[in-house]
Amino acid sequence: MDILRLILDRIKPPITHLQSAMIISLLALSISIILAFAYLQVLSKEKIQDFTLDSAKLYIETLTKVRTLYTSEVVDRVTENGIIASHEYLKHVNAIPLPATFSMLLGNAVNVPGINTRLYSAFPFPNDTATRGLTDEFSKRAWNALNDNPNKDYYSFEEINGIESLRYASADIMRDGCADCHNSHPDTPFNQWKTGDVRGVLEVIVPLAKTANAIDQLIKQTFLVVLLTCLLISAAIYIVVKRLKFILLATKSSSSKVLRINAQLQQKIEQDKLLQEKLMDISFTDALTGIANRRYFDQELDKQWHWAIRKKCQLAVIMFDIDYFKPYNDNYGHPQGDVALKLVAQAMKESQLRPFDIVCRYGGEEFVLILCETEQTGALIVAERIRIAIETLAIEHQYSPLAPMLTVSAGVGTMYPTPDSSPEDLISLADQALYQAKEKGRNRTEALNINVEVI
Ligand code: GH3
Ligand code: MG
Ligand code: MG
Repeated sequence: MDILRLILDRIKPPITHLQSAMIISLLALSISIILAFAYLQVLSKEKIQDFTLDSAKLYIETLTKVRTLYTSEVVDRVTENGIIASHEYLKHVNAIPLPATFSMLLGNAVNVPGINTRLYSAFPFPNDTATRGLTDEFSKRAWNALNDNPNKDYYSFEEINGIESLRYASADIMRDGCADCHNSHPDTPFNQWKTGDVRGVLEVIVPLAKTANAIDQLIKQTFLVVLLTCLLISAAIYIVVKRLKFILLATKSSSSKVLRINAQLQQKIEQDKLLQEKLMDISFTDALTGIANRRYFDQELDKQWHWAIRKKCQLAVIMFDIDYFKPYNDNYGHPQGDVALKLVAQAMKESQLRPFDIVCRYGGEEFVLILCETEQTGALIVAERIRIAIETLAIEHQYSPLAPMLTVSAGVGTMYPTPDSSPEDLISLADQALYQAKEKGRNRTEALNINVEVI
């Protein structure tokens, strides 16, 4: 198989796995069929030989039985009445054929086409040496074999005139009462015959060729039909497999197309997602300061609100408003006002808030902080820290009646959110606190708390 694979690999254009599998299967199938038919031919030859052997045996047995019957029922009886038995019976008036002569006559009379009967011996009568002697190798072998074992017939398959034939030989035994006659015959070449001696060989030659040829022909025709059928089936399978392969390839290519389109779609979805996230970022970011905007504040306050309801904890909102920012803008200019807003936002962002705390620009010069899980004291500390941090920035504000720098006021609102209240209540609370801080002189922090603890 390796050599076959090597040969197949060398063929150009290269043979595919499918084709090589088909070729190998076809070869294996052809070899199996050839072997099967070769075996069938051997088997049929054996059967023909067996059959011919049986026929020859039967033929010889029949001849022997007829001869025995002829001897006991005809020869023995008529010879008692003065009739003689002779192989030259035609030359005498009161003569009948000897049993051996009769057997030969019978053999010739039955005349089965192709079958020859012979009777010979190592001691033929002088006139019969040419026809009744041991004229060839087979007759010599048969004579010796039957003399060694008279009960075992001797045979062999040989070609006679180019035709394979069976030569079947059986011993002709000297019967009781016959020995004297043979010994006393004037022409006898041997006069020591005893009862039980092998006095001759009865041979029948049956040609095998006719039957064998017919069966051989039949096998060859069957072989051709089977081979042709196999080739046709193989060709059909090849075409079907090739077609299936084509369909498979088409399906594969269309499915890879689908995969490619899918990948492109996936990529597009990812891009859209990124874009959406970017847009979300933009929509939640204040363009000027870069911190979260009012929209984000509203959304996050809502979330924190519900979270606090569930957790039953306080929520704090701190509102910051720059003091006297209008005069700042009016005197330093709007662009400078923007710079100041950015600095304030930056300072708020960097004022050590907790990860979940959120700082947003609420609008104009107002900022807002959401502190989750924070009560009033904590929120006040954060508000003050931021207020001082902004003061510490020391952004010059000569037009503030309060101080020479920019300051902020802060309003802290804290409460336990409940399903009955709303985020607006908390915003309003922080707004009121901021208002109080402004009222009480600015640059300060005021706090209001709806002190209803949720149990
Ligand atoms: P108060 O202490 O009572 O808060 O006084 P105020 O002057 O700060 O309050 P007011 O509401 O009268 O003025 C707010 C000013 O903030 C008005 C506007 O010029 C300024 N402002 C609001 N938004 C912006 C902005 O985006 N950029 C700049 N440069 N100024 C802004
Ligand atoms: Mg304001
Ligand atoms: Mg203000």
